[in-house]
Amino acid sequence: MLITVKPLTPLWTGDAEGSGDSIRESGILGSLRWWYEALLRGNGHEPCDLGVEPCLYEPDRGQASICHACQLFGCTGYARRFTVRLINVDDNTTLNRKIENQLITVKLRNPTNGHDRGWFVPWKPQESFAIEFRPARPGTFDAVDKASILHTLRLIAQFGALGARTSQGQGIVNITCRTDEDQSDALSIVEWRTSLGQRPARQAQSQNAWPNFADFVGVHVTLGPGVQPDQNWWENTGPLVFLRDAQRNRTVPYPANPVCVPSAPAVRAELRSWLRTTANVPIPGGSIGRAELEEQRHAIMGYAKGNSAQGSNVFVSHLYKELEDNQWKMRVFAFLPANGAPAEAALRRLLQNPVAFPKLLEKALGLSPLTVASFPQGLNGFLP
Ligand SMILES: [Zn+2]
Repeated sequence: MLITVKPLTPLWTGDAEGSGDSIRESGILGSLRWWYEALLRGNGHEPCDLGVEPCLYEPDRGQASICHACQLFGCTGYARRFTVRLINVDDNTTLNRKIENQLITVKLRNPTNGHDRGWFVPWKPQESFAIEFRPARPGTFDAVDKASILHTLRLIAQFGALGARTSQGQGIVNITCRTDEDQSDALSIVEWRTSLGQRPARQAQSQNAWPNFADFVGVHVTLGPGVQPDQNWWENTGPLVFLRDAQRNRTVPYPANPVCVPSAPAVRAELRSWLRTTANVPIPGGSIGRAELEEQRHAIMGYAKGNSAQGSNVFVSHLYKELEDNQWKMRVFAFLPANGAPAEAALRRLLQNPVAFPKLLEKALGLSPLTVASFPQGLNGFLP
């Protein structure tokens, strides 16, 4: 199976300390597994937590001894059922491309106190590349395995993001099958669900805190005709105040025809601000307490320590230009249980509010008008 990937915002596949200057298989595999696990949970399966209670393959029990995620991606004693090779689109040679992607600092100014905060972000989306999937050994990467990967990739392309730092804007990708057979051979989501359900697998202990597609909400955002994040906006009206080359510490000129703008920090800041207002989070008999809200806000948005935003359940993309219609877009998506903590439920309602949420985005970006289209409701809407 050959899949072409075109990054629309920079793809980050390095480790947390890495410089992010090449595309790594490990980063793509890790992200695929993360989304696949969310899809499994949304379908009533319980993949294991590799850090806490990983599966251990027992030869006498076979596949039944390990969870569905380990059956596809491998674990101790059981090898991954497919191999992956990253290749160049034009000649199918192995990808060995250092990305000339300077890291820039984006500064965000707090209008109330004038203080700046900076983020290091890669600047440009990478060129297209392809992922080649092959069976690891005879009998593996069958139709069910193939469908597991293909449906996961479709979810990522249409509603999510690939790689790391996806909560901070990276990893919006366009994905296409290189051959029609890959497209038509794949099991439908209904067939996939049935086939997977018939495979014996270990059900790990419930991990309610982990991403589950049953809790998935989000929006696609499109800027109005003619509304664009040009240099004038960036310098004069936007809350993002300047770009600086993080390695050489000098100001970066605003590109002439950008296809992506590192705007996610501004939207994340606005969401954090919304989650600081106790009146936004009603509880029976009044509003939530300040300390309780702070705790829930950290659980939802993650801790921004240095350059990492680990543990965020809310993902905000940068603004990017869609190839087909040449319009500026962005997406916000989140894993928020409807019956979760009060702040989770309140934020979930905000994301689905057709009036309040566009207003919040227009304020955060300093760009209007924009239109907001909610993601489908319920799992079946995501994978027709
Ligand atoms: Zn497992």
